[in-house]
Amino acid sequence: MTLDRDALFIGGTWATPATDAVLEVVSPHSEEVVARVPEGSTADIDAAVAAARRAFDEGPWPRMSPAERIEVVQNLSGLYAAKLDEMATIISTEMGSPISFSSLAQAPAPWMQIEAFLGIAREFPWEERRPGVLGADVVVRHEPVGVVAAIPPWNVPQFTILSKVVPALLAGCTVVVKPAPETPLDGYLLAELLVEAGVPEGVVSIVAGGREVGEHLVRHPGVDKVAFTGSTAAGRKIGAICGEQLKRVSLELGGKSAAIILDDADEAAAIEGLKFLGVMNSGQACVAQTRVLVSRERHDAFAAALASAIGAMKVGDPLDPATEIGPMVAQRQQERVASYIRIGQEEGAQLLVGGEGRPEGLDRGWYVRPTVFAGVDNKMRIAQEEIFGPVLSVIAYDDVADAIRIANDSEYGLAGTVWTADQEAGLEVARGVRTGTYGINTYTMDFAAPFGGFKASGLGREFGPEGLAQYTEAKSVYLAAPPM
Ligand code: NAD
Repeated sequence: MTLDRDALFIGGTWATPATDAVLEVVSPHSEEVVARVPEGSTADIDAAVAAARRAFDEGPWPRMSPAERIEVVQNLSGLYAAKLDEMATIISTEMGSPISFSSLAQAPAPWMQIEAFLGIAREFPWEERRPGVLGADVVVRHEPVGVVAAIPPWNVPQFTILSKVVPALLAGCTVVVKPAPETPLDGYLLAELLVEAGVPEGVVSIVAGGREVGEHLVRHPGVDKVAFTGSTAAGRKIGAICGEQLKRVSLELGGKSAAIILDDADEAAAIEGLKFLGVMNSGQACVAQTRVLVSRERHDAFAAALASAIGAMKVGDPLDPATEIGPMVAQRQQERVASYIRIGQEEGAQLLVGGEGRPEGLDRGWYVRPTVFAGVDNKMRIAQEEIFGPVLSVIAYDDVADAIRIANDSEYGLAGTVWTADQEAGLEVARGVRTGTYGINTYTMDFAAPFGGFKASGLGREFGPEGLAQYTEAKSVYLAAPPM
């Protein structure tokens, strides 16, 4: 089966690109080209925004009832559910996520989002009448925010496309999606499903391209709101542009989350949990628990056990179901992760397992060795900066208050966990940590609840009614009685 494409998805149909530039999708495992697709240009973005603008200003979609839009998204849900295996394989092929992770999360989690948003949209107060304080009632309407620019990253590409497209569609918006150049393929599979689901002309465009094309989309005067997931550096830039133009913006950015291991925690369960949560998606996860905080007394023993578990994980071909850690998405990312492993050693952290070289037996592909540092000082760069690879730092704390202080000593505030036999004690820790999401004895996103970052981890929320509200503008209509 070829994954090549020769058209872009503009205005809901397959269109000839404005230029003949090509994006080569390179397998992070074989380093060979696995697909060629058109590279979107600024002219393609202009065409997509024009279509979205027309569809929003004149088309049926924003004027349909929420129930009619729910029906179309319900169709999408059914069609998407039938494509889970294909979606998982495409994502693992384009960006190297282990197929075990793609089948567990990359492909099915977006479907769970669709289902959760459908339930939320059915209950959402699209138009409600409230008693005012001035004697008459007020009608409060939640109207679509307009044309949305959706910009996802490569690490969880379909997840971050649908986290924007689904609430935007349900709210009555039109959308231009710009997938990352590393991961154009999953978006085009979605495009086929959108057509089949009956999304009207002009409502969704998908144009993969680089950051210049992304920035052109962000600045475009035809765009009303930008929904971005990616690095904090790009998020700051996009936020600044939107601030200047007074565009609505939501930003899901980086993280450096802390797992706090309390002294009463079941050590084996915590280590089993961290084998997944610390290095999931080969460590390329914004919510990865990359700082492991352990009491000073238990530090050495816990770090040794963690290192032995992480060091034993199977690294290799992402399409092998036994693989637990795949390659990094690109050579630049492999080099970046290796440079942090070097920095950690230079900073004086104790390398327990892993290191800069390639994993044994893998002489090609952008692989790194799963790495655990112990004796890390939270001020070190490996504890402060997002590495985005399978590299964990074990940090000692003096008491629980110290653990919370260390967890909070970060520019980020995206996620976090606490591991304890006492749920109430865990909740007390959760109350003290300044992050948008938290887990006691595990970490997961529940799409009924909001997800997002404190501090430099972002602005706004995805999922839950809060996430749907980000695609609406509130309008108040005061109902004065007609003159007698
Ligand atoms: P990135 O910021 O380099 O790119 C993300 C997307 O934005 C890509 O599509 C890219 O082409 C585009 N882009 C980059 N600069 C842009 C600009 N100035 N204007 C418009 N578009 C621009 O990030 P990445 O390397 O693709 O992804 C990894 C980052 O994403 C990590 O920092 C990770 O933590 C973060 N992330 C956050 C979440 C979350 O929900 N908080 C989820 C996944 C990934």
